[in-house]
Amino acid sequence: MALTDYREDMTACVRCSSCKWVPFNQMRSARFSHNCPSIDRYNFHCYSGSGRMNMGLSILEGRSSLNERVSEIIYACQLCGACDVACKTYREVIELTEVLLELRAGCVERGEMPLEHMAAVDALKRENNMLGEPKAERGAWAEELGLKDVNRERAEVILHAGCRYSYDRELWPALRGTVRLLREAGVDLGIAYSEEGCCGGRAYELGYRGEALNFAEDLASRVKASGASVLLTACSDGFAAFRWLYPRMGVRLSARPVHLVQYLDLLVRQGRIRPRKNLDLAATWHDPCHLGRMGEPWMPEWPGDKRERLRCWTRTGRRGVYEEPRRLLLAVPGLELREMERIREWSWCCGAGGGVIDAFPDFAAWTARERLEEAVSTGSDALVTACPWCERLFRDTAGEAGLPIRIYDLSEILLASCGEEVEGL
Ligand code: SF4
Ligand code: SF4
Repeated sequence: MALTDYREDMTACVRCSSCKWVPFNQMRSARFSHNCPSIDRYNFHCYSGSGRMNMGLSILEGRSSLNERVSEIIYACQLCGACDVACKTYREVIELTEVLLELRAGCVERGEMPLEHMAAVDALKRENNMLGEPKAERGAWAEELGLKDVNRERAEVILHAGCRYSYDRELWPALRGTVRLLREAGVDLGIAYSEEGCCGGRAYELGYRGEALNFAEDLASRVKASGASVLLTACSDGFAAFRWLYPRMGVRLSARPVHLVQYLDLLVRQGRIRPRKNLDLAATWHDPCHLGRMGEPWMPEWPGDKRERLRCWTRTGRRGVYEEPRRLLLAVPGLELREMERIREWSWCCGAGGGVIDAFPDFAAWTARERLEEAVSTGSDALVTACPWCERLFRDTAGEAGLPIRIYDLSEILLASCGEEVEGL
């Protein structure tokens, strides 16, 4: 696909600006009625989903050209998908996210990318991860856990930790604790240690499609060789890549992609994990974009042809993973779930996505702060989520701003309720 394949989508945009807002029937207050961090922060039409489509059409028709300034606007967007689902409330056939992705692929083709992304992708090619950390240390988080090595032995479930969890030491206790929970529940678990690579999802979002495909094919072949039937990931970005992007790129996984939240929910419902300790905690749940609307696959599978796509456009954000985390939280004794105003497919992004965390860190922090203020407005003690990118940005932003809210991974809540030591719980 190329930008030209989306000409009809771009011409169909009537500039109603509905993509800038949570749909009217979902709004609960003026304060939290915006849905697009980019237009909210920069306040000029080209920073909205519609504005970027208008720019795309203008480039396509030769009325303007792709240059450094245009590229900067294209990349000052989290690719959170909120504009897409809002537009589809009224205009089912417009595939807004696809246009945003095509614009980025065009930027890479013409060499007009932010320098930060060029550096990150160079590091990705060298070290197989988005953080540029040594690939030999990828499995260090699992030291002394005695997990199976799927490069040498078969396991029923292969755990893909993802780039952020693999190298962010502050997040390791949550992942290590979860592994203990899973094994106590009898799960046959293995990891690929230093052979695990990036899922490729972020590279695709940045417009580097060849690199994304290489990582996807590599991961798919490793999963196949492991004989696993479940590909489990704790990373929402990885989940979206496995569930949505791989079928879109024509990469078939031999194992079913499952997010940790879905798996833990299943184990709790089966009685194999029993939350029992009373936590006495008011908590709000942040829906990560890639676990929710962006993790939704095409229904049916993406066939790679626009004319086909018009008959199977059903990617609306409604079938994201929304119930499982809420059910898990409500299974914890003493936990009161206090919902924010923008939830499920109407959720506000954490700010980290689409490479914004690397190229526009101030914008990322501003976006996170917006979400944290919404969380604080619920009167909750804690914001809980299930994506290491969200957690890192929320922790840093809440700490710097001195906001009265703690940040937890959902697995930490479960661990605490199962009797493990978790700071602050
Ligand atoms: S992208 Fe959709 S919601 Fe936004 S202005 Fe165009 S038609 Fe309206
Ligand atoms: S993907 Fe998110 S940040 Fe980008 S234009 Fe759409 S709503 Fe705004």
